[in-house]
Amino acid sequence: MTRLPIEIKLSDTRKEKPNPNSLIFGRSFTDHMFIADYEEGKGWRRHRIVPYAPLQLDPASIVFHYGQTVFEGLKAYRTEDGTIKLFRPQENMKRLNRSLERLCMPKIDEEAALQALTQLILIEKDWIPTLPDTSLYIRPFVIANEAFLGVAPSKKYQFIIILSPVGSYYKEGIYPVKILVENEFVRAVKGGTGNAKTAGNYAAGLKAQEVAEQSGYSQVLWLDGIERKYVEEVGSMNIFFKINGEVITPAINGSILEGITRKSVLEMLRHWNIPVSERKISMDEIRNAYEKGQLEEVFGTGTAAVISPVGELNWDGYKMIVNNGETGQLSKRLYENLSQIQKGQMEDPFGWVM
Ligand code: PMP
Repeated sequence: MTRLPIEIKLSDTRKEKPNPNSLIFGRSFTDHMFIADYEEGKGWRRHRIVPYAPLQLDPASIVFHYGQTVFEGLKAYRTEDGTIKLFRPQENMKRLNRSLERLCMPKIDEEAALQALTQLILIEKDWIPTLPDTSLYIRPFVIANEAFLGVAPSKKYQFIIILSPVGSYYKEGIYPVKILVENEFVRAVKGGTGNAKTAGNYAAGLKAQEVAEQSGYSQVLWLDGIERKYVEEVGSMNIFFKINGEVITPAINGSILEGITRKSVLEMLRHWNIPVSERKISMDEIRNAYEKGQLEEVFGTGTAAVISPVGELNWDGYKMIVNNGETGQLSKRLYENLSQIQKGQMEDPFGWVM
């Protein structure tokens, strides 16, 4: 294992911490951040933890013009006995490297990045909120900061980790959301960047999200970019359908983001001997199942909500009300098991928690 020399410069001042009862996602940030610099020929250097502050970037930095940037998202929980738990952080580092590779960016050393992350969290441990279901959101990201307007991979990068205390996703318990099936816009196509966690995918999704919200839907269900027939994912979550006792999720196909919650749900379902399949699933198949009364549950999976039950799917005006618009048994069971394992309130038979 590579032990990193990390230079630490602590802040002279400490910010006031936000009220833990009214935390807004991604609005407040801790006192410090981690930064490392990359330069072609020299590799990653100058690993450091410094006071959280605005960055100084050349206006010609490649990230601003051509979007060469990738990110990750995970959470740290503080348990009742004071220990700090991370959920499968190695998977986030692996995915960060897959995203970097897709965007022609230099890979990071996964173990070194994990050390940097844990060291930063230890420095900021008082920022981890302790109220039920609150956590410290961790945002590692890499930006291309060479000042150059040519369309080419940057020769300089920064790897940064920032931390943000976040509130409970479900303040009144897990509840189902209404989803609009998106027929006009697409998020990604096979061969594109859908399977990388890169800024452009999210910018491309804003328009559809705006339209959905205006009509009272909380997120959009993305269809495949070629035939607009097969289901891909929902908002920034992966999607699962329980049809006639079997749980189906779209197979990883190059345009879907390979969620860590998705992977964990699949492993958990298999552990429980519940039939699962990863395959193509079309809107026609879902509608047929619905009409036969076999569409039992629909839920999204992701770091933010863990499990997000879907109570209504609107496909071009055809409304499918799932499980009477209520949270299904399986969604609830998955949510309770996953979130309790993450928070160290339940034994972790999978070895997921660090
Ligand atoms: N799809 C997209 C597009 C996402 O942004 C996310 C959130 N990272 C997910 C799925 C779910 O991934 P995870 O379970 O790793 O949070």
